[in-house]
Amino acid sequence: MSKRDFYEVLGVGRDANERDIKKAYKRLAMKYHPDRNPGDAAAAESFKEANEAYEVLTDSQKRAAYDQFGHAGVDPNRGGGGGFGGGGFEDIFGDVFGDMFGGGRRGGGRAQARSGADLRYNLELSLEEAVRGVKKELKIPSLSSCDNCKGSGAKPGTSADTCGTCHGSGQVQMRQGFFAVQQACPTCGGRGKVIKDPCNVCHGDGRVEKTKTLSVNIPAGVDTGDRVRLAGEGEAGQMGAPAGDLYVQMHVKDHPIFERDGNNLYCEVPISFTSAALGGEIEVPTLDGRVSLKIPAETQTGRMFRLRGKGVKSVRSHAVGDLICKVIVETPVNLTSRQKELLEELETSFEGNSNKHRPKAEGFFDGVKKFFDDLTK
Ligand SMILES: [Zn+2]
Ligand SMILES: [Zn+2]
Repeated sequence: MSKRDFYEVLGVGRDANERDIKKAYKRLAMKYHPDRNPGDAAAAESFKEANEAYEVLTDSQKRAAYDQFGHAGVDPNRGGGGGFGGGGFEDIFGDVFGDMFGGGRRGGGRAQARSGADLRYNLELSLEEAVRGVKKELKIPSLSSCDNCKGSGAKPGTSADTCGTCHGSGQVQMRQGFFAVQQACPTCGGRGKVIKDPCNVCHGDGRVEKTKTLSVNIPAGVDTGDRVRLAGEGEAGQMGAPAGDLYVQMHVKDHPIFERDGNNLYCEVPISFTSAALGGEIEVPTLDGRVSLKIPAETQTGRMFRLRGKGVKSVRSHAVGDLICKVIVETPVNLTSRQKELLEELETSFEGNSNKHRPKAEGFFDGVKKFFDDLTK
């Protein structure tokens, strides 16, 4: 099956900016997240597809390569199902978290014993957790270093010998006609070592299937699509080779009140018809509790009020966003006959001069008149 176009996957145009891409990705990630679609292979596939498209299109280099060469221009993702997938992508948080997690990428490593694969863990967070930061315990099923042989693959008390065929390099030169070709050593399979007495727990691989529990500090301000890298916490390497990294990828769940856009939060606040007309003080929710907000007289529905510094503190720049409250004027319901009378009385008082009290009406009806005048021309 041929791969779908990454822009098509995310449903964005080829000129989409990072924000559009992030938004589109967020929507898909929420929809297809494996935690929400347990056992649904099609959703898992869509999730993987969206992740892959997101990874490429938010990396300016990869995106440029993709735009020019298509799928051939970017590294294919080393697949993987369920909550875990092969990684290999670059850590967008490298600068921020490099120190936090000890940074050090795998050290030199010997010859050809295979390094462990990178793993990805998809972590769902509530908006509050993402905004304030949280410590999470992750249970990661993975290949870990074998305790019995300390990862060497050799029976305790013995050690692996340097391969006699390749003398530890893992490579041999083969002659084919005029050419000398380097090949993986057939004796040791390219590992450079041979084990005479394999460990009876891991059978010489140096790794066993284990579920490990990791505690990870999620910094305040992360958003969907952000990643934290835990160096060396991926799959263990073969025969003591360096381990891969673990990437914890964030998915922030929808919130019943707030919608997040970058560092800003949006919410809608209903206000009464009377408060809107006369002005007054209303209570609005923030992530830290309620605050009061002054509403001026003659406030129209849909008006936005900005509460500076009540948004989200950016994980990268530490800039703080705003809370933007959109007021929605409510039409009163369940009126008694007395209340209806009062409203009719109010309406009567407007008569003869009604547009004076209706700021939108005049312009609107003028527009409508012009529209029909133009039609009949
Ligand atoms: Zn072992
Ligand atoms: Zn060899």
